[in-house]
Amino acid sequence: MNYTISKVFAREIIDCRGFPTVEVDLWVDDVLAARAPVPAGRSTGQREAVELRDGGARWGGKRVTKAVQTVNQVIAPAVVGMDVRDQRAIDATLRQLDGTPDKSKLGANAIVGVSLATIRAGAFAAELPLYRYINTNAHILPVPLVNLINGGKLTSNDLEFQEFIVMPVGANSLLEGLQMCYEINLHLHDILVDRFGKIACNVGDEGGFAPPLRGLDEPMQILTSAVDASGYSKHIVYGFDAAASHWYDWEQGHYVFNGENMTRDDVIAMYAKLCRDYPVASIEDPLMEDDFEGWALLTSKLDGVQIVGDDLFTTNTTFIQKGVAMGAANAVLWKFNQIGTLSEALDAAELAYRNGYGVQVSERSGETEDTSIADFAVALNCGQIKTGTTRSERTAKYNQLLRIAEELDDAAVYPGRNFRRPVG
Ligand code: PEP
Ligand code: MG
Repeated sequence: MNYTISKVFAREIIDCRGFPTVEVDLWVDDVLAARAPVPAGRSTGQREAVELRDGGARWGGKRVTKAVQTVNQVIAPAVVGMDVRDQRAIDATLRQLDGTPDKSKLGANAIVGVSLATIRAGAFAAELPLYRYINTNAHILPVPLVNLINGGKLTSNDLEFQEFIVMPVGANSLLEGLQMCYEINLHLHDILVDRFGKIACNVGDEGGFAPPLRGLDEPMQILTSAVDASGYSKHIVYGFDAAASHWYDWEQGHYVFNGENMTRDDVIAMYAKLCRDYPVASIEDPLMEDDFEGWALLTSKLDGVQIVGDDLFTTNTTFIQKGVAMGAANAVLWKFNQIGTLSEALDAAELAYRNGYGVQVSERSGETEDTSIADFAVALNCGQIKTGTTRSERTAKYNQLLRIAEELDDAAVYPGRNFRRPVG
């Protein structure tokens, strides 16, 4: 087999929320070498690369036929004939064809599909698992951040925080960690049914329960009851995605939490109390995405806690650089479709590491059956992954990690409490 891309073809498929998305097939030397479905966000940051949607009345305006056409008519002729292993050159070609800073001409969804298909096809042609194709030293299995209670834009309940997460840092292996989280989820189910009835066990976009709770005290009290009931409280620490841009009143210039108007200082004090009351290891998007100064203040105040930039950084080296310069956050949420190409996303991880920042690989709320992020988490040796709770598009990633664990065998390391600094 040679390594020449011989054909690229895109189609429209359906993501886990029932929205259309792009899927790209890529042939190397006339053999179908990769299939790449494209994930999408709902609770997106303003600085994310722009996905192209058709608009109009049908399918909620979410169709992607233009992005599909762009892959088939514009991108395919440009990349056919290139060596599939030249990921950076192919990604650069995609950026040049687009020519905009936010990928809004071709559409980030078209670009992501081709970039992801390229890296997967490269691994196929090299006859290597994806994680090993990217990094021959890949060996760290990530600690899962399992978001058992969902709120914010991922649900129709009134919780401001988007994700209430358990992290099994005291487990001895990934499998044992998953067992702990899913046992806690069973207890959570019973507690919710007991208090609120069966309807409280409907799930949000990422497969965690989306009960009719408010604020912070109520969900934390219920979550800790479930953890206590499981008997794993010594092995569990908590994480959150506050997704604060989505409960910030942009017109009035203050936060609105559980019916109260709050200043930035009030919100920081709320986190300080949360960290005093519970073993909190990680908080994502604690403040709104434009307040780098506030993030720096909060990062220094909550010493010892991982502060993760999602909407703040959007996996973009320009904003990570700004955060590093100001001391805002100490970890980067890694979502490759926020920036558009794999090589830019890999650069973002490298920049984070070089500056002592952690990296947490993440799902999107709009996922598919694709499991690439499991391989990316291992390839990056980053030590942590956030990929949801129940529903197959979430568990598919854990299942892929379990297969990788089996392949790595004795070489695999589950970092547990060292999830922030698993290497170096
Ligand atoms: C998130 O905000 O971290 C998230 C996974 O949601 P979305 O994919 O909607 O951005
Ligand atoms: Mg987030």
